Amino acid sequence: MELSARITGLNGGGGDGWAVFYQARAMKAAGQPVTELTIGEHDVPTDPAILNAMMRAARGGHTGYADVPGLPALRAAIAGRVAAQSGVATGPENVIVTAGGQAALLAAHATTCDPGDGALHLDPYYVTYPGTIRAVGAVPHVIATSPDNDFKPLRRDLDAAPQARSLLINTPNNPTGTVYDAATLDTIAGFAQDRDLWLISDEVYDSQVWDGAHFSPRALPGMAARTLVVGSMSKSYAMTGSRIGWIVAPAPVVEALASLALATTYGVPGFIQMAALYALNRGPDFEASIAEPFRRRRDLLAARLEGQNVLRLIPPGGAMYAMLDIRATGLSGIEFANRLLTERLIAVMPGESFGRAAAGHVRLALTRPDDELDAALTSLIRFTEEITP
Ligand code: PMP
Repeated sequence: MELSARITGLNGGGGDGWAVFYQARAMKAAGQPVTELTIGEHDVPTDPAILNAMMRAARGGHTGYADVPGLPALRAAIAGRVAAQSGVATGPENVIVTAGGQAALLAAHATTCDPGDGALHLDPYYVTYPGTIRAVGAVPHVIATSPDNDFKPLRRDLDAAPQARSLLINTPNNPTGTVYDAATLDTIAGFAQDRDLWLISDEVYDSQVWDGAHFSPRALPGMAARTLVVGSMSKSYAMTGSRIGWIVAPAPVVEALASLALATTYGVPGFIQMAALYALNRGPDFEASIAEPFRRRRDLLAARLEGQNVLRLIPPGGAMYAMLDIRATGLSGIEFANRLLTERLIAVMPGESFGRAAAGHVRLALTRPDDELDAALTSLIRFTEEITP
């Protein structure tokens, strides 16, 4: 019996940059003191008050099937958050609750692309993007960005892309930490309109912006009608394991997404939704407190890199990551990450694991406590200086 080509082709046959990640995990399991600066997960668990709200909701009866597009009160709270942040009129009819940002990405592509359609995304990219697009039968096309422009797309990069139905962007960006400026978002919006594309805007890091405020392209003139915003409680509330996120989109798109939800997840558990509602009601100050360690560590990293000239930091405007240009060492990102792991017990992700555009770079997830990060940075900088010709 054969599996579908859609599933057997899901991974596209690439991704060897992940070997270092698995090796680090194995070394750690074997008892070696590896500092893992690899994955995008907070070093703190979900706040106990949120867990108590989850427990209260479950005990209080929210254990049956919940409303498939999401509890009305939660949809309203998400709409309120998005409206307050973006300035775009947003009601519960514009919101569907999903099983995390990842399920939202899949649903967004399933709802906008037919099998065989092109679906654009930028390189470097969050690792699941191509597989998510292939999972709905669409064909991923990458648009390379350049470290010379801090990995922000230029109009000429976009114009070189083939015919497609959708464009997926991500700001604040994983893996680069780049936040798109107004000019970049204008360029993207102009391109989407000229090509008549759906814009799928992955904004799961919207609470982690270090200078100024998050800006959603949905707020640009004419864009609300063609934009699906992907959001999540994972990063903003340290609720990664709760698997809860959303899509904000025009009401007819949300209706279509609700049909898909009926045929896939049948909604998100009610007690998780109630916990998310409780969390959202704690508001922006709570979100800021979850984001604060990453801002602090970004500053720590920037300070530590002063006074050396072998590593270039792509200016991290947001998210829990920083990208370092290691090309002065003459090594590839994979070689650098392998040696850093075996010789200094520090695990970072090679840029090559996020596509081709970030070759010669490594990504640091700022997800270890400050003192551990600080010690790892001292060691990483010394290592780089020693090996640079
Ligand atoms: N988009 C990006 C850019 C991410 O980094 C992640 C998680 N690492 C997701 C989406 C999915 O997050 P979740 O499903 O936990 O909401």
